[in-house]
Amino acid sequence: MINRVGVIGGGTLGSQISWIIALSNIGVVVIDVDDGILGKCKYMHEEYAKLFNEKGIDTEKALNNICYSSNLEDVKNCDLIIESIIEDLEIKKDLFKKLSVIVDKKTIIATNTSTLLPSELKDSVKNNERFLALHFANPVWEAGFAEIMGHEETAEEVINEIREFVKEINLEPVILEKQQRGYLINALLIPWLSSAQKLYFEGVADYKEIDKIWKLATKSSLGPFEIMDIIGLKTIYNVMISDAKRLKDKRLLQRAEKLKKDFLDKGLSGRQSGKGFYEY
Ligand code: NAD
Repeated sequence: MINRVGVIGGGTLGSQISWIIALSNIGVVVIDVDDGILGKCKYMHEEYAKLFNEKGIDTEKALNNICYSSNLEDVKNCDLIIESIIEDLEIKKDLFKKLSVIVDKKTIIATNTSTLLPSELKDSVKNNERFLALHFANPVWEAGFAEIMGHEETAEEVINEIREFVKEINLEPVILEKQQRGYLINALLIPWLSSAQKLYFEGVADYKEIDKIWKLATKSSLGPFEIMDIIGLKTIYNVMISDAKRLKDKRLLQRAEKLKKDFLDKGLSGRQSGKGFYEY
């Protein structure tokens, strides 16, 4: 039974993950190395509370369920720790080594990494049969799911326990049977977005036409460029650059630079900023 959770990293995803857990009446401690981020995280929680109040949901208890700390030792009594810090292999490994000294043998440690595999991190976790990836999507409550992906030594009971936990925080668990970079969602999404980018940036059609045909043909409510606006164009650019380098793909690099020049450099960075491919 998971009664207390530590969320390490109070940034974009950490603030959302900690909120959805607190809302389900589970105690959460948010840890971050940056006090300014902890202050911002608290502010975001107050904003999320207003959002949920508007939906008629009482949030007083949820706000009281959260505490904030810059001391890693404060995760000591947690049943589950969700790491959601910067996407950097060495920094994550270093954190897991420190955590392994602090936490109990029974504690489950999960990573919210987007691009790494649990097997690439597991050697830095002492009880690695209790280590897995638990991947949330942004925005967590609108997406409504979390992907669960163990590595070869992750215990079956840990997967089951996390599946129940995900249900408890009102998300739909999606289980992967083996490791896949990008999980299910990104393994499907990235090639699709990449095809759309190619059609637009290579001049085949305007992005509005590409979105239009996708929505008409598939009866979807969102087209690829509307989805890129939700993800944020800076993230899209970073993914394009990293794929271009990995695949040594010059055309992809050119498309990424065009996205930067025509959109990011003009302050058009997606839905959160009010403007991206579309205005909000
Ligand atoms: P972010 O930059 O908004 O937040 C990361 C936070 O980690 C920062 O506040 C930073 O101060 C903190 N941090 C760095 N090192 C730390 C340490 N050693 N101990 C404690 N705190 C530390 O990043 P984010 O977008 O929230 O992403 C966090 C993780 O979630 C990444 O692994 C990312 O791949 C994953 N993720 C992100 C998204 C997304 O849409 N942003 C979606 C799914 C998963």
